[in-house]
Amino acid sequence: MSWEIKNKIKQVLDKEEGTQIFAPGARRPLAFIYPNSYNIGMSNLGLQILYKEINSRGDTACERFFLPDKKAKVDYMKTKTPLLSIETQRPLADFEIIAVMMSFEMDYLNLLTMLKMGKVGLLAAERKEKEPLVIIGGPCATFNPEPLANFADAFVIGEGEQTVNTILDAVYQAKNEGKSKEEILLSLANLPGVYVPRFYKPVYDNEGEFVAMEAANGVPATIKRQWVHKLDSYSGNSAILSSDTEFENMYIIEVARGCGRHCRFCMAGYCFRRPRARDLDKIIEAIKERPARTKKVGLMGAAVSDYPQIKELTKFLVDAEIPFTVASLRADSLDIELAEALAHSGQKTMTVAPEAGSERMRKVINKGISEDDIYKAVVLATAAGMKNIKLYYMIGLPTEEDSDIDEMIAMVARVRAKMDEVANKGDLVISINAFVPKPFTPFQWSPLAPVKLLKKRFNKITEAFRKEKHVFIQTESLKETVLQAVLARGDRNMGNILYEAATKYDGNFKQALQEADIDPEEYAGRTLDINKSLPWSHLDMGLDEGYLAAEWEKAKNLAFTIPCFENCKRCGVCKEEKDG
Ligand code: SF4
Ligand code: SF4
Repeated sequence: MSWEIKNKIKQVLDKEEGTQIFAPGARRPLAFIYPNSYNIGMSNLGLQILYKEINSRGDTACERFFLPDKKAKVDYMKTKTPLLSIETQRPLADFEIIAVMMSFEMDYLNLLTMLKMGKVGLLAAERKEKEPLVIIGGPCATFNPEPLANFADAFVIGEGEQTVNTILDAVYQAKNEGKSKEEILLSLANLPGVYVPRFYKPVYDNEGEFVAMEAANGVPATIKRQWVHKLDSYSGNSAILSSDTEFENMYIIEVARGCGRHCRFCMAGYCFRRPRARDLDKIIEAIKERPARTKKVGLMGAAVSDYPQIKELTKFLVDAEIPFTVASLRADSLDIELAEALAHSGQKTMTVAPEAGSERMRKVINKGISEDDIYKAVVLATAAGMKNIKLYYMIGLPTEEDSDIDEMIAMVARVRAKMDEVANKGDLVISINAFVPKPFTPFQWSPLAPVKLLKKRFNKITEAFRKEKHVFIQTESLKETVLQAVLARGDRNMGNILYEAATKYDGNFKQALQEADIDPEEYAGRTLDINKSLPWSHLDMGLDEGYLAAEWEKAKNLAFTIPCFENCKRCGVCKEEKDG
């Protein structure tokens, strides 16, 4: 055990406020893994909300684990120290439950690294009776847990606030009754929103194509996503502040969850329906009670400018002279008050996401934003004193043609011209990502576009603005995009490759794919059969059967789907109402 590692963790603790540490033995310990750096993990509001929720039970002590940086990893290895928690520097393997927040596909291998460092068996089937239960939640677990199925004892499908409590109650009760791991897992498999993969067997055809998921006797055939109907029943703000995070000492507060805009590429829009807003008075109360060291308030939500009382909330922040920032803006719900309030808080760049350059493509994706909305955002940002404009686009979207890229280039040039017209001499930054098909969206059957084509389109756009002094094009690494797409639409076999990558190839997923004779581009570039079962079809997001296929048809016909509205029952999610 290295004292140096322990001391470094203690230095991290010294910079925190709000940490809850309990005396050994006072509560049952639960390890909470965020499979990336401390810096990134601590900026995740989901982690902060669940940390508070678990500790508020009174019987459980939640202790965090993050991925150590390169240097710390070497220290751990040299000193043969098992991975330690932040709160009490206790080894991972000593916990009876390990909860994991999985937000990004590219963190899958980080989780395996952390389990290895913590001396916890990677494969759920091989973990012994006394080893911790590994329970994975977060967006990735909700939309396609299959690539991680070999490593998880259970998954939380949907939002975790209620489910984490039902799981802990069930595990504690079963353990007190002396039940075996298998018995505990069988009881978990029958809780709402809990998927226990060992009781579900994927069936493949002769060509190795996934055909169906077979559920064992005694467990439900489908697992229903859980979502919190009344957000105000749960905390929605930072539990711990730290000067060591991405957003230094920022007090993050959730104003709304889910989004009712129906963009057809957006997993969050489909898996976290319906849109819900927190009570304004409660938000203001939480802001008033924030720790004194808060530098800024961060308003969080899928589309913050859609929050029904955004005007009242920003007025309160401006009047109280509290600097703030917003996680996301829709160009069509922006107004001068909000733009001025953001500029007043020090924001220098207005960021909006038209996502596609041509009107046709924006209809395909149901973005519902016109070019005029973008011009309006430019004018408002400039009038409010914000110099720079940043626009997010995607390329490789289903049905995209070269002409859509030409139209995107023309649109960027028109936005630049608009900036010049209103005497805005700032920069226009264009951030372009490749579209990745995600489960439970109307585009889930669509392929990832060929890398060659994506590169060609990236180059065309970059070339078009090479001589422009104040237009900057940012593109992403396509290598990572391909691997992300492979994992997003992977089946359980992909878990075997992840295992090989972690145990044989030093975490090199690409090499493991190669050894397994899988061409990642080909795998990500498959068009899935709309009439066949998919590796995630046994999960139930609450959407009516055929809803996604109907949306895909509407996309091809450029038909608009209007946003969610009160008393709407269109997609199936709001059919059942319940409290809590
Ligand atoms: S506005 Fe569209 S992209 Fe943004 S969160 Fe909502 S559905 Fe997703
Ligand atoms: S039923 Fe209507 S309001 Fe509810 S999530 Fe679906 S589309 Fe939105």
